[in-house]
Amino acid sequence: MVKYSVIIPVYNEEPVIRETYKRLKKVMEQADGPYELLFVNDGSTDRTMTIIKELAAQDQAVHFLDFSRNFGHQIAITAGMEHAAGEAIVIIDADLQDPPELILTMIRKWQEGYEVVYAKRTKRKGETFFKKQTAHWFYRLLRAVTEIEIPVDTGDFRLIDRKVCDALIHMKERNRFVRGLVSWVGFKQAAIEYERDERFAGETKYPLKKMLRFSMDGITSFSYKPLKLASFLGLLLSMGSGIGMLVVLYLKLFTDSTVAGWSSLLLTTLFFNGVILIILGVIGEYIGRIYDEAKGRPLYIVQEKHTAEREKEASTH
Ligand code: UDP
Ligand code: MG
Repeated sequence: MVKYSVIIPVYNEEPVIRETYKRLKKVMEQADGPYELLFVNDGSTDRTMTIIKELAAQDQAVHFLDFSRNFGHQIAITAGMEHAAGEAIVIIDADLQDPPELILTMIRKWQEGYEVVYAKRTKRKGETFFKKQTAHWFYRLLRAVTEIEIPVDTGDFRLIDRKVCDALIHMKERNRFVRGLVSWVGFKQAAIEYERDERFAGETKYPLKKMLRFSMDGITSFSYKPLKLASFLGLLLSMGSGIGMLVVLYLKLFTDSTVAGWSSLLLTTLFFNGVILIILGVIGEYIGRIYDEAKGRPLYIVQEKHTAEREKEASTH
């Protein structure tokens, strides 16, 4: 029997993972029931997995999933949810940027009857100006384009009830933006605020490329607005060029001056082609994601696992 599951996605976290384990252990010992620490190794290439196995050998509460390669942070969280056995499930980063001690506060809120308790960042320490600024804009842009209410400045550090976890598991979409999905399913949600610490050790595993992909997933999974942009831009540009046409005709018919030849022609052609390519790119983002869904590949592949399967569900898997 497990009451609390803590999901920790890890990707090359060798320098931090023992410390993370220690802090989590200390916190979870104070919780009012049995717990598991479920590490999801997302294809680490360092000694992360060796350390996890050492921990699992010493401590019954340590469970793990080992992916066959790097599938990404959001997929790792999803896999954790699918294998978590607890009645309340906590998701936390491995790098101690999210203070484990907050979990106890989350648990208290859960006991008050909230089904989702998410942690909102009031401050972020030890991250570059660029990261903080882009993150700030991203959350606001997301809020502007989506119809559902996704809380700003909130990561995946949260507690969810078993009911919420089950609902999320049944959403099989591939390009997963977990914090958006949690908002989408609803339930009774509460926020707690915290200051995000620096990474305990090591470097961010979210280079610009992954960050961009992640934000595109967020926007495309929850909004069609970029597609509507095409018709809006089209309308605007045809109106603009309509007026331009009238001006040129007027100059030609009623005055001696004409608009100079090929440079204006070239510029307009280039401009309109640029706009068309951008819009094609936007459509491409959606088509690519439809293609991903159509292929129906599994979300991830596990090469080794040590988990506490839930008895109820054992027959369905
Ligand atoms: N992570 C992962 N797979 C990845 C990238 C990151 O499992 O492909 C994990 C990572 O080990 C950490 C969490 O996701 O536990 C958040 O990553 P990180 O701290 O590097 O992101 P940041 O806090 O810099 O945004
Ligand atoms: Mg981090």
